[in-house]
Amino acid sequence: MAEKECDNCGDKTERKYLGKIRGKNLCKKCRTKVRNKRREETIDKAGIKDELKSLDRKIRNDWQRKNYRKKNPFKEKKIINEIPIPKGTTRGKVKQKNKSESYLGFKESQVMLKIIMGRGMDFEDAKEELKRIKEELKITREKMKEQNKPEKEIKLKEQQMLEEMYKY
Ligand SMILES: [Zn+2]
Repeated sequence: MAEKECDNCGDKTERKYLGKIRGKNLCKKCRTKVRNKRREETIDKAGIKDELKSLDRKIRNDWQRKNYRKKNPFKEKKIINEIPIPKGTTRGKVKQKNKSESYLGFKESQVMLKIIMGRGMDFEDAKEELKRIKEELKITREKMKEQNKPEKEIKLKEQQMLEEMYKY
């Protein structure tokens, strides 16, 4: 009977059991492997979509940061101190009295806008960016509320998120 080598593993197989995938003649075992791998890749892609989104933003922020540093080598330090802290909180300490749902109030938003624009975005783009940031904060807040995390922890997390985005 006519036997031929599998292009992948080299095992001899009857010709009729070989199948073509992407131009390669593969034995049954190798074809299954290729199919499974492809399936995993597809699942992975769907699973990391969210992570990709935030990674996207990190890259963009990185780029803006570098650009900003180039243009304003001396301002960076000052900006860091301007990162807004949550309403009713001081660093590491939360006053329970303030139950505001909004991490970024009007004043804080203005400061963030200034920071974003300082990194080379125009006003419209900066507004969009701020919207995205607020949305991300909101989603995190809702998730943590669902997990019954205390307000103190939520605010700290929000602050960490903002600092991560803009403080380095
Ligand atoms: Zn094979």
